[in-house]
Amino acid sequence: MADHGARDHATWSASATARNVHCAGALTLAQFAPPQRESIHSARGTACHQIAEKCLRTGVDASSFLGEIEKTKEREIEIDEELVNSAQEYVDYCRSLNPDIMKSGVHEQRWIEQKFDLSALGTPFDAGGTGDFVCYDPRHKTLEIVDLKNGMGVVDVNENPQLRTYGLGALLAHPDLDVERVTVTIVQPRAPHKDGRIRSETFHVADLIDWTADLLKAMQRSKQAMDEHAAANGNTVLLDEWRDKWLKPGKCTFCPVEGSCPALKRDAMSVAAVWFDDMDQPRLGNAALDTDPASLNRDLNMIPMLEDWIKARRALAHSMAEQGVEFEDHMLVDKIGNRKWADDTAPLVMAMQENGVDPFAEPKLLSPAQLEKLLGSKRKALIEPFVVREVTGTNLVSRTKTTRSAAKTKAETYFEAQP
Ligand code: SF4
Repeated sequence: MADHGARDHATWSASATARNVHCAGALTLAQFAPPQRESIHSARGTACHQIAEKCLRTGVDASSFLGEIEKTKEREIEIDEELVNSAQEYVDYCRSLNPDIMKSGVHEQRWIEQKFDLSALGTPFDAGGTGDFVCYDPRHKTLEIVDLKNGMGVVDVNENPQLRTYGLGALLAHPDLDVERVTVTIVQPRAPHKDGRIRSETFHVADLIDWTADLLKAMQRSKQAMDEHAAANGNTVLLDEWRDKWLKPGKCTFCPVEGSCPALKRDAMSVAAVWFDDMDQPRLGNAALDTDPASLNRDLNMIPMLEDWIKARRALAHSMAEQGVEFEDHMLVDKIGNRKWADDTAPLVMAMQENGVDPFAEPKLLSPAQLEKLLGSKRKALIEPFVVREVTGTNLVSRTKTTRSAAKTKAETYFEAQP
């Protein structure tokens, strides 16, 4: 079993390629990042990968792990339906590839959790990563890399630098294979996308080689940024110049220095200054409330940047406080969870019965994943006609950050419902 919590340990990891290509200074600052705590989302992603790997290695279905505990770097995650469903969708897709080869038992044609190393290209740093699943189809001379994404942030497959890095790594790892085309596939069960939850891009090896030249140039830029940062030697004027030259916000999610990045601080401060000192906007004498759609639209554009920065600052301070740093006006307190029964429920049952109360509820219908587990992999499709995914409300999102179609407004829904 691969160590999923520490998969991308290279200085230039595949998963950070998009960020490092966009922001050449990110790799420099990452060297000074405080130790990263494992978030619950990241731990759930790790647990999902772990059970998916076990399924692919052993042939069982993900529902067999329902209710079990998976240990991750810092947490223990109980496998719930959502994780089972995500893992199974990915496992089903991997199993569906090259079924003839799979059946013939020629295992050399697929690799689970394959480690990649790009050092053969003469990279200025150690560079690599781990591909979730790699499969070679000799009939079409195609190498496919499948990536499971358990998160809800929509990831596009086209020209995706992380996936291209995996493609490149897979190609380097198998110089003996006759490959003409590379297919990269994202399986992202929890994020609706116009191209579906499973989406692929196929490109010719020659295109990948062209892209590799760009990747190596980006690595050289990062190396130059690193060298110039070292040459500034702590001089604040030079470091401000370095910040403006090498840091480029825009792909900061998951950057290990998001909470302490000087470029984000500079931009957040300037956005806040516009907000609080909006002197060039027309003032409407009697307008007590600011409900102008254009003004709200402008604020909606600015809010995510400030929110992200505030969230990252809070997370950094929290993590430092947990490591013992004291803040004058702030302190750590315990977070109290929802009420639940103590481990031994026998005294509770006895006390309730003595008071004439039955603490047991009526038997409930099993959940889809529980029923799937009972039915087993061969009969699990039986429940599909009875499963629904309900819309529970709406979200207001940026048009540029979604591929989903617009939901109906309340007025539209109301008039549609009229006879
Ligand atoms: S937070 Fe954003 S701008 Fe700052 S180093 Fe990271 S990627 Fe670059």
